[in-house]
Amino acid sequence: MTASENQGFNTRAVHAGQAFEPRTGAVVPPLHFSSTFAQDGIGGLRSGYEYGRGGNPTRDSLQEQLAALELGTHAYSFSSGLAAEDALIRALTRPGDHIVLGNDAYGGTYRLISRVLGEWGIGNTPVDMANLDTVRQSVTANKTRFVWVETPSNPLMKITDIAALAGIAHDAGALLVVDNTFASPYLQNPLALGADVVVHSTTKYIGGHSDVVGGAVVVKDAELAEKIGFVQFAVGAVSGPMDAFLTTRGLKTLGVRMDRHSENGQAVAEWLLERPEVEAVLYPGLPSHPGHELAKSQMRKFGGMVSVQFKGGEAAARKVAESTSVFTLAESLGGIESLMNYPSEMTHASVKGTELAVPVNLLRLSCGIEDVEDLIADLDQAFTSIP
Ligand SMILES: *Cc1c(COP(=O)(O)O)cnc(C)c1O
Repeated sequence: MTASENQGFNTRAVHAGQAFEPRTGAVVPPLHFSSTFAQDGIGGLRSGYEYGRGGNPTRDSLQEQLAALELGTHAYSFSSGLAAEDALIRALTRPGDHIVLGNDAYGGTYRLISRVLGEWGIGNTPVDMANLDTVRQSVTANKTRFVWVETPSNPLMKITDIAALAGIAHDAGALLVVDNTFASPYLQNPLALGADVVVHSTTKYIGGHSDVVGGAVVVKDAELAEKIGFVQFAVGAVSGPMDAFLTTRGLKTLGVRMDRHSENGQAVAEWLLERPEVEAVLYPGLPSHPGHELAKSQMRKFGGMVSVQFKGGEAAARKVAESTSVFTLAESLGGIESLMNYPSEMTHASVKGTELAVPVNLLRLSCGIEDVEDLIADLDQAFTSIP
C-alpha cells in the first residue's frame, strides 16, 4: 500500500515512499546501487532516472517518506546534516544576506555559518531565541534572510514558540528555518506551525541506530524546493544509496522509538531532580521548566534528551561522564543506545570562548530505549564518583 496525508504518523512512517516492487512483489523496495540508468534511445529516461547524483530510487523513497512525515511537499536528503544546511543556505541566500540564529545553536551549524559562509559574505547574529523581543530587534528587513532556531535547543533545552517566531520572520520578509533534529518529526512538525523550512541531522533520531550519517531539508513551497533541489544536484552532497536505505529503515520505527525515548527521558529527569548533587535539570517535560507549557502545546511528547548541571562544577560533571557503563561517553545522540556527552569539550568545543559557549558543569544525556531501571542504576553508581 501507499501512504496518504490523513493517515496517522506510524502508518505514514511505514508506508510513505515504500510501495512494493512491481516486478517481483518484494515488500521492501530494493536498494538501488546503480550510478547510471539505461536510456531507451537518446534522452529516453525510465521514470526520469538518468544519473545517480541527480536521482536514485532509494534516495527518492527516503525523500518521499521524509516529506510525508514532516508534512512538507518536498524533501532532499544529503550526506550529513551540515551538508543539508550548507545546501539550504547556498540555495536561498546571497552575499550581504544575514541570518539570525539561536545563541545555543548546534556548534557545527554556527561554525558553518560564521567560519565558512561568513567568508562568502553571509552575516550572522546569535540571539536568545526564547526571548522574542530580542529576536524582533535583531531581524532587519531586506537583509535578514533566515531566522534559524532549534527547539528544544542543544544542549540547553530551551523551548521557542515556533508560530510566534514565524510571525516575526515573515513580518521582516525572512524565512523561518527550524532544525528539528532534537524533536524529530514524530514529536513536532514545524511546517504545520508556520515554519518555512525544516532541517534535520538524520544521523540522530531519524536514523536512530547510530550507524549512518545523513541530513535532510524539507519544505512545503515549490519555489523553495526547486532552488534547494538544484543545489543538491549541482553541488552533489547527496546521500549514497546504502545510507538512504538505512535511514529509511530507521525512520519506519521512529514513532515507537520516540515513545520509549520520551518515557525514559522523563523518568531520568525526574530522578535527577531529586538528587542533592544536582544544581539544575534541563528537560521540557518537567513542570518547573520555563518552556513546559509551550512544549506541551507544540510537541507530542518531550523526547529523550536531558541536560543536567552539577553543584560540584566541572569536576563533578567530568567524573560522572567518565564513570558510567550503560551510558556510553560519545558525541551524537538519538540512537537506541544511551549516550553521555560533555558538550563544552565535545560537541560544542568549536564554540568554546564565544558567546555560544556551554556551561562547564553541564552534561547532556541522550536516553536510549534500554530499560529505564538500568539507566538510573548506572547514573546512581556514577554519582558515587563525584569528589
Ligand atoms: C548533529 C547535528 C547537526 C549536524 O548534523 P551532522 O549529521 O552531524 O552533519 C545539526 N543540528 C543538530 C541539532 C545536530 O544535533
